[in-house]
Amino acid sequence: MQQANMLNEFKLIIGGQLCSGEQGELEIINPATGLTAARCAKASVEQVNQAVSAAKQASKAWQMVSHDERKSILNKIADGIEKHAEMLAELVVLEQGKPLALAQMEVQGAIGWTRYAAAMDLPVEIIEDSEAKRIERHRQPLGVVASITPWNWPLMIAVWHIMPALRAGNVVISKPSEYTPLSTLRLCEIIQQEVPAGVISIVVGAGEIGEALSSHPDVQKVVFTGSTRTGQRIMTGAAQQLKHLTLELGGNDAGIVLPDANIDEIAAKIFNTAFLNAGQTCAALKRLYVHESQYDALSQKLADIANAQIVGDGMESSTTFGPVQNQMQYNKVKALIAEAIEQGAKALSGQQQLPEQGYFIAPTILTEVSESCRVVQEEQFGPVLPILKYTDINDAIARANDSEFGLGGSIWSSDIKAAQVYATQLQCGTVWVNTHAEVLPHAPFGGWKMSGLGAEFGLEGLLENTIGQTLHISKV
Ligand code: NAD
Repeated sequence: MQQANMLNEFKLIIGGQLCSGEQGELEIINPATGLTAARCAKASVEQVNQAVSAAKQASKAWQMVSHDERKSILNKIADGIEKHAEMLAELVVLEQGKPLALAQMEVQGAIGWTRYAAAMDLPVEIIEDSEAKRIERHRQPLGVVASITPWNWPLMIAVWHIMPALRAGNVVISKPSEYTPLSTLRLCEIIQQEVPAGVISIVVGAGEIGEALSSHPDVQKVVFTGSTRTGQRIMTGAAQQLKHLTLELGGNDAGIVLPDANIDEIAAKIFNTAFLNAGQTCAALKRLYVHESQYDALSQKLADIANAQIVGDGMESSTTFGPVQNQMQYNKVKALIAEAIEQGAKALSGQQQLPEQGYFIAPTILTEVSESCRVVQEEQFGPVLPILKYTDINDAIARANDSEFGLGGSIWSSDIKAAQVYATQLQCGTVWVNTHAEVLPHAPFGGWKMSGLGAEFGLEGLLENTIGQTLHISKV
């Protein structure tokens, strides 16, 4: 298959073939202009069924490929991503909006995660090895894995789903977000160069295509990253066949700054983790609790950093802060900010000049916010950070934990030991001390409560792409 260049046609991959969409084409909007940037093939439910059927067929041979061979193929895929790094980064900017330097980091992350998956081994556990018998616990692939991804880190999240699934011997059908399919379409073309037909497929469309795929009886596992509501629907659809699920869902991460924290040192770090990707990051810091003794000073430092951002098109070299990805999210974040201000919050930043077109919102620091405001209670998923005051640390921890979500949380302090004690009182899947939103290929990551089910990354993440099989060998 010939891999196309940046703006050549964007087609589906079904049974190893590039295909047009039976539902015509989807318009992909550049969030920096609000205008159509490209068109891509739009799949029908019948094409989803064809993809599953081809994947099921390919699964038989792919399961028999040796671990060494699969490792080598994954490394060749990483080489392919590396070769096309610049094109992929530019596509991410075009469809998602983030500044080019951040998109380049996303591509580097995709390469790193692919190589990490290539290097991983699936352990065989020896449960008993006596004179009478030997018992081993093996891990087998599941079969057809459906990967459904969101629009915030389109390339990286597709890689997080696809590579461990392939490494473990599964075949994968990718369904990227209908807002940001372009970089994932090119990624799948790169993968297709290295694997037999049917091992990777990609279908593009909105919710109904995701639903047709995730509820298909021949799909054994769904790995989904997106909103909690969609995750619940997928779980309901998966019940018929008791499908395996990994669900990475929404978050409303709290950070707590202890009175002894060095605010000169941490202000920039807090800003970067709260406003990473214009705040459109599942594990971004989304509520900041600051002790009353440093509340005004830290709020002002964060506002100064926010006011210094250059908001604009991610392709402009001067831009440090990109747009929100889509109109719907833009409207939602604007409404949350307006509602908080109506209810008494103060915006210490967010007044800089913005480009006339596109979904731009300046990074907004809100103080004096009431705890009951939607911008505190809900996942805002955009460039706004409410800062809340506390007096007693136990009260701050209780407020941080008073959320349906449990993705991440952080404590900021000069006393690492004390910070660690408080960090482990936060009810979430990852807790950080003096950092936030940091994810790494070797550290398992997953949410508690309504933030998800299962984990990705590390051995734990790889094992979620397998099913255990116990082997008993009688020696007598
Ligand atoms: P979304 O749930 O609207 O969409 C995600 C994907 O699901 C898209 O591909 C969409 O087409 C598909 N989809 C929609 N309806 C479906 C259905 N009924 N069945 C199957 N698939 C369906 O989420 P979004 O707005 O694209 O992404 C933002 C959300 O993702 C935020 O809540 C964010 O916190 C979350 N997220 C979580 C993580 C994590 O690791 N926990 C990472 C990134 C984003």
